[in-house]
Formats: sequence, C-alpha cells, structure tokens
Amino acid sequence: MSKGLLLVVSAPSAGGKGTILKELLRTEDSLRMSVSATTRQPRPGEEHGKQYYFISREEFQTQAAQGMMLEYAEYVGNCYGTPRGPVDQWREEGLDVVLEIEVQGGAQVKKLAPDCVTVFITPPSMAVLEQRLRDRGTEDEAAILNRLETALVELGHAQEYDYIVVNDRLEDAVEDMRAILRSEKRKYERNADFIRKVITHAETIR
Ligand code: 5GP
Repeated sequence: MSKGLLLVVSAPSAGGKGTILKELLRTEDSLRMSVSATTRQPRPGEEHGKQYYFISREEFQTQAAQGMMLEYAEYVGNCYGTPRGPVDQWREEGLDVVLEIEVQGGAQVKKLAPDCVTVFITPPSMAVLEQRLRDRGTEDEAAILNRLETALVELGHAQEYDYIVVNDRLEDAVEDMRAILRSEKRKYERNADFIRKVITHAETIR
C-alpha cells in the first residue's frame, strides 16, 4: 500500500480554512485531520483533544525537545505544533492527513517532506478578512489589529505554496480543495508502485 498524502493548508486567521476543511473531511473518507498542540487559552466551545491539545509552555517545550513535534512555531505570542505520532501512523496506513498550520510551520514541513502538497487559502480581500475577525468576536481590538498585520505578512508567503484557493463562496473553495486532492492522488509518482504491479502481473501471465 502506498503512503498517504500529506496536505498542508495555511490561511490568515479567520480566513475560513476551518469551515472549508470541515466540509472537505465530511466527504473524503480517507482524509484525517491532525490535532495540534498549543499554549494558547481555549476559546469558548473549544475542547482539549478536539480543536487542540491545550498544554502549558513547559510541556510544549519538553515535547518539542524530545522530537515529538513534526513542526512547531510561535504565532502571535503562543506556541503551536503538530504531534508527529498520529501523522506518521495514518500515513503508514495509507490515509491522507491534513495539517492546518501557519506559514512558518508550512515551510518546515515542505523542507522535511518535499512531497507534501501545500495550499494557501486567501480571503477575497483584507476588508472581508477584517469583517470576519470582528464578526467572530473572540479577540479584543489589539488582538484583531495584530492578527491583521500578521495576515499581511502571511499573504507575502503565499508564493511558497503549490496552490491558491480563494475563500469567497464556501462551496467553490471546497470544490477546489477536492479537485486538488484528486489530481495530486493521480500523479504518476504516487501510482508508480501500482503500475509496476500491473506490469509484473502481465509478465507472469504472458
Ligand atoms: P488559532 O489561534 O486562530 O486557532 O490559530 C492561529 C494560527 O496557528 C492559525 O494560522 C493556525 O493555522 C496555526 N496553527 C494551528 N495549529 C498549528 C500547528 O500545529 N503548527 C503551526 N505551525 N501552526 C498552527
């Protein structure tokens, strides 16, 4: 069985990637979502082990030092990292894994696993992004301005990604994600073993 695909998705905060990925996961049976560890406080409704593993900075540093994180980064004052174990296990089982991470982590993963597929989801405009952040109502004014500044920096990294998806109409963005996943899975390199098997079998019956 060939190893599952590693999909890296980045987007400015409140860029809508959570909703897009939730919708994608609903229809893609072989896709799993990695649950990250973070030192930030849970938002209302967030649960430990569901959206994130909420851990202390000390625990985060210990796990990172022990090589338990596939990648990690500091983002607007908090640490975020991808636990390595589940990602490796799922991929070994042939399942595809999506990481929803910011751009520094995205760059680390691309270096570590150059065959990963990277997608940058962008809002249609900064005005729309600002409105979404305000509508969410989970950050104070200073945090909103900080996240908007960070978003601009992140947009500058979009050029490092394989694909760009504009999050204007949700259905279109999800359809784009599905198309990317499908085409990537049909690439020759990901099917070389299968072709070899077909050829070998053909030779045995000739
Ligand atoms: P939030 O605090 O809004 O949930 O997430 C802030 C940013 O951290 C988002 O851009 C999100 O994609 C990113 N993020 C979440 N988990 C990880 C992770 O494991 N690693 C990295 N590098 N970024 C993450």
